[in-house]
Amino acid sequence: MKVAVIGGGPAGLMAAEAASARGAEVSVYDQMPSLARKFLMAGKSGLNITHTEEAQQFLARYDAPLLREIVAAYGGSEAVREWMAGLGIEEAVGSSGRVFPLQMKASPLLRRWLARLEERGAVVRLKHRWSGWDGGTTVQFEGPDGEISVEADRLILACGGGSWRRLGSDGAWTEQFSSQGLETAPFRASNAGVLIGWSEHFRDRFEGEALKNVRFSAGGESNRGEAVITKRGLESGGIYPLTKYLLGGGTLTVDLLPDVSEAKLAAKLSVQKPKQSLSNRLRKGARLQGVKAGLLREALSPEELRDAGRLAAGIKALPLRVDGPVPLDEAISTAGGVPWTELSDGLELKAHRGVFCAGEMIDWDAPTGGYLLTACKATGWAAGQNAALP
Ligand SMILES: Cc1cc2nc3c(=O)[nH]c(=O)nc-3n(C[C@H](O)[C@H](O)[C@H](O)COP(=O)(O)OP(=O)(O)OC[C@H]3O[C@@H](n4cnc5c(N)ncnc54)[C@H](O)[C@@H]3O)c2cc1C
Repeated sequence: MKVAVIGGGPAGLMAAEAASARGAEVSVYDQMPSLARKFLMAGKSGLNITHTEEAQQFLARYDAPLLREIVAAYGGSEAVREWMAGLGIEEAVGSSGRVFPLQMKASPLLRRWLARLEERGAVVRLKHRWSGWDGGTTVQFEGPDGEISVEADRLILACGGGSWRRLGSDGAWTEQFSSQGLETAPFRASNAGVLIGWSEHFRDRFEGEALKNVRFSAGGESNRGEAVITKRGLESGGIYPLTKYLLGGGTLTVDLLPDVSEAKLAAKLSVQKPKQSLSNRLRKGARLQGVKAGLLREALSPEELRDAGRLAAGIKALPLRVDGPVPLDEAISTAGGVPWTELSDGLELKAHRGVFCAGEMIDWDAPTGGYLLTACKATGWAAGQNAALP
């Protein structure tokens, strides 16, 4: 059985591993000069590969019912951890339950993974850009020696989402789908920073500083965590789960002291001498200084800052005007792509038998925390196993 995999990111490589484990003759094609560039980029922040939280809670992080089933059938986070251990890579579990390779890098893991694929006879063709499709399992590639045509028995598509195009995930594969009359859902930024028009003074003073241990709210959901002040707004895990509510702009509310009640704060602030500077009132009455105090000055009016009750209300629910997410290309992940309605339970395109899809190119969403890579592996595993069936 000849299986061609297009896209050598974590989903495509897992599909290649699963198909070759079933005895298929696998070739992986990728348009970039090296494989898994986004996976390696994820390694720069330690490679959060999965999460130890309890299975039901873990699965609830995914927005698509079939994806939850596929991740569960794969074995969830346990399967990812066993897989990593099987490659001889030790893990480290953070206090929040996030799982990383002990070395906090992706490259040693990727090297061993590729060595395993090579041992199983999988062939890698780099600098091969998918350029044509007959709708079945024959595809064309633009390669270093011009266009080639590949006839496979099964095709696995794992071309990624629509962000970080410089790493290969340019979303241009949607043109191949259009050429076959297949509709795809437009890419949407997920797990992305937000744009806020800071004053010049605030930006110059606080860019790069972290707002720690705060609670962000938008769209009726809230998330406790941290975010970093950037030139254009806010970035980092604390706000990523809320990006989906801010795609068209809106209000992001920040609770700067989630463990203190508004009444207690108001009482403490009201006993501060009115003649004291705002800095002293905030420091003595609320233990707030630095970037948190700066943010209050940025977002509240002088009247609100003077009045103890209104200041306490602002500390507990500081409204920040968000203009929208950062450009799509800068999002950590994207939703959109191949709709679930086009796929069978085995991830085969219903209208194109023998063609399977995996990874971020399918329309699903999940937060950061290792859930993205776990889903890419699980869908890759399912697509690879099913593609290799006779
Ligand atoms: C900065 C950053 C940090 C991240 N950190 C984490 C993290 O810690 N934990 C986590 O779970 N997730 C993280 N992610 C998300 C995670 O990396 C992605 O969800 C994952 O890489 C998607 O895997 P994939 O295989 O579906 O697609 P990709 O990794 O995007 O791979 C797709 C591949 O397909 C190839 N391709 C595309 N089009 C074509 C074509 N026409 N012809 C040939 N080849 C093509 C591309 O070159 C690419 O190699 C992070 C993402 C970023 C950007």
